[in-house]
Amino acid sequence: MGKRVSFLSLLLLSLLSGLALRAQEDPGQMERAFAILEERGEIVFEFYPDNISTVKQINTFLSVDRKTSMGFEAYANEEGFRKFLGYNIPFRLIERQARKKSGTGSGEFPGGWDSYPSHDQYVSFMERMADEYPEICRLDTLGQSVEGRNILIMKITGNPDKHEPEPAFVYSSTMHGDETTGYVIMLRLIDYLCFNYGHDSLVTKLVDNIEIWINPLANPDGAYFEDDGIPEPKRFNLNHVDLNRNFPGIEGSEHPDGMPYQPENIAQMDFLESIYMVMGANIHGGAEVINYPFDTWESLHADDEWYRRTSREYAREAQTMSGPVLYMLDLDSGITNGWKWYPVYGSRQDWVNYFNHAREVTIEINFPKYTPSAELPYFWHYNHPSLLRYMEQSLFGIHGIIRDESTGNPLKASIRVQGHDTLHSDIYSDSLTGYFVRLIGPGTWNLEISASGYEFTVVEDVQVNPGQATRFDVTLTTLASGVNRRDGLEISPNPFIYQAELSIPVSVPGLHRILLYDIRGRMVMEDLMFCEMTGIFIYPLEGSHLDQGIYLLKLISPADTRILKIFKSQ
Ligand code: ZN
Repeated sequence: MGKRVSFLSLLLLSLLSGLALRAQEDPGQMERAFAILEERGEIVFEFYPDNISTVKQINTFLSVDRKTSMGFEAYANEEGFRKFLGYNIPFRLIERQARKKSGTGSGEFPGGWDSYPSHDQYVSFMERMADEYPEICRLDTLGQSVEGRNILIMKITGNPDKHEPEPAFVYSSTMHGDETTGYVIMLRLIDYLCFNYGHDSLVTKLVDNIEIWINPLANPDGAYFEDDGIPEPKRFNLNHVDLNRNFPGIEGSEHPDGMPYQPENIAQMDFLESIYMVMGANIHGGAEVINYPFDTWESLHADDEWYRRTSREYAREAQTMSGPVLYMLDLDSGITNGWKWYPVYGSRQDWVNYFNHAREVTIEINFPKYTPSAELPYFWHYNHPSLLRYMEQSLFGIHGIIRDESTGNPLKASIRVQGHDTLHSDIYSDSLTGYFVRLIGPGTWNLEISASGYEFTVVEDVQVNPGQATRFDVTLTTLASGVNRRDGLEISPNPFIYQAELSIPVSVPGLHRILLYDIRGRMVMEDLMFCEMTGIFIYPLEGSHLDQGIYLLKLISPADTRILKIFKSQ
């Protein structure tokens, strides 16, 4: 945001903040705030905390949108605003100018792509594209908004009715209803992909090899708060909830915002879990920056290097396309780690990365939030090469198919990069096709592949080169009967009479505790084993003194805890 701050606006800001210090005592200002809350269910204001820890506390009930040069800009519903007042923090109410209706819903949409569609025009545009390009387009509905509007999504891919071994890539925009630039850009992207398929080599490659999903409007009730046209869109949904604070918290809280999951988000989560999502981006407005995970905590993603590189590529291309105009330069020249910018709990990006084992970034596409309709074509021009190249990233990294060795059936398996994966960065193969994609930076990697009932398998020395895909298939062998295993932990024979051999795959060297419990939960044995390196270790289990019956063997290793049920016979 810094780039646009001229001396004049600094002067203006300092005048405004001078006003803000008195705003709380100004009864007119307070009255106005509550009048807006009654009319729209949300208000926007800038506040000036004297220390950052206060921001963390109030972040749970306010929706902090961005850091400004003086403080923070935030949205609140009535309950959140009342709580905020209890903190006695100086603030300044920001009154939004109504957008000109002339840019919305007038004439034909899309025309020259220099207008915002009315809701009806949006729906008919989506229907028309699906009708005109049946060989690559399917229009789908994820679910319904609070007010009952359909949340539309377009699937664009070769053979759209077949579930193929391909990565799914998802673009979603405008979960904050007042961030509408990305909405129109997404509609234009649908048009561009369809129109250029079979003519442009990059577009054809993307459509043929990726299952592309585009959800232009994730919060229709917010964007169309004023019904037809979008003269005064809202950030929140109709229940006054910020959808980007309403996902399950990765730090363990089920409802970080204290609100039930909203229908718009339940629809998104159900959908994202139902496809083989590899990558995506979620488009917002209010700044010009690519924001990568995590939002919740300081810990970096295991593939932080991948995130920084791919985000940088997006920003650089957009900067080049915007030529002499200064664009996509906020924070670290157009990229930022989410938490470093400002912490957010319950964000969609964190949920996708952590719980859905996929990749997602937040693209803040424009500052200020509202783009006059005549300027929309510029934002398309700046962004469309980056939007295409970003999708192409899902075709790089490691790809393959995992099958049962004897039947050839596809398998859902867990794939961990040895010594690398943390915080749910490990992935799974697709249960329907056995296909997997592990996006990762250049290097040589070992992959640990495990599936319930199959031998634990390590694929060593997988080479990954920049801008290329490394492909290999894996077959897994079923475990011999009588052997029981959990995540590679195996015991043989099982049942046993005197002694059994416990085989322990070690991915992180260190101290391993082996505990044995009887059926009533009493510990009957405890031992320690120090493993200096990775690999498979054999532990001789001496059990001649044990009574006949079922036991639970618990292995506590530096990496995880595994439990195995074992049987002692006579
Ligand atoms: Zn936003």
